Amino acid sequence: MSTFEIVPIDPERLGAMRGKGEDEFGNDWKAFPAEGWEPLRCCLRKSEPGEAIALICYTPWTEPSPWMEAGPVFVHAERCAGYLTPDRYPENMARGKCMFNTFDSAGNRAYDHITFVSPGDSYEETLAELLGRPEVALVHVRSVAAGCLAFEARPAR
Ligand SMILES: [Zn+2]
Repeated sequence: MSTFEIVPIDPERLGAMRGKGEDEFGNDWKAFPAEGWEPLRCCLRKSEPGEAIALICYTPWTEPSPWMEAGPVFVHAERCAGYLTPDRYPENMARGKCMFNTFDSAGNRAYDHITFVSPGDSYEETLAELLGRPEVALVHVRSVAAGCLAFEARPAR
């Protein structure tokens, strides 16, 4: 039984951006063909060459916060199926050197719990262990190399 829930970008928010033709920061929604390496934050897999994707600016925060960060992410240009196995760590995303950026239930960064993982570590066990700590309510998984947010993780409901 999994103890965490993997949270991709909210499909409703993405749908609203597509409908408006721009992301939440006013950047045009521009579809272009993927090269095949791009990590897609809507369904948490790598792109396939030629499929239509877009590069947008995204923040996982939905309420004002001094901790808020926004950054570039790739998503499918059209609505996709999303991430269908939220109880499982993605197979081929965020498998390089990653920062597990921890936040407490008040939304503040939980500095003492920030953890770095590298190939060879168990990403699943580390994430489950972190989210089992009472001080940790939420984890943002980030690529150390690119700095980009891969996805959020929360304790399983
Ligand atoms: Zn997708």
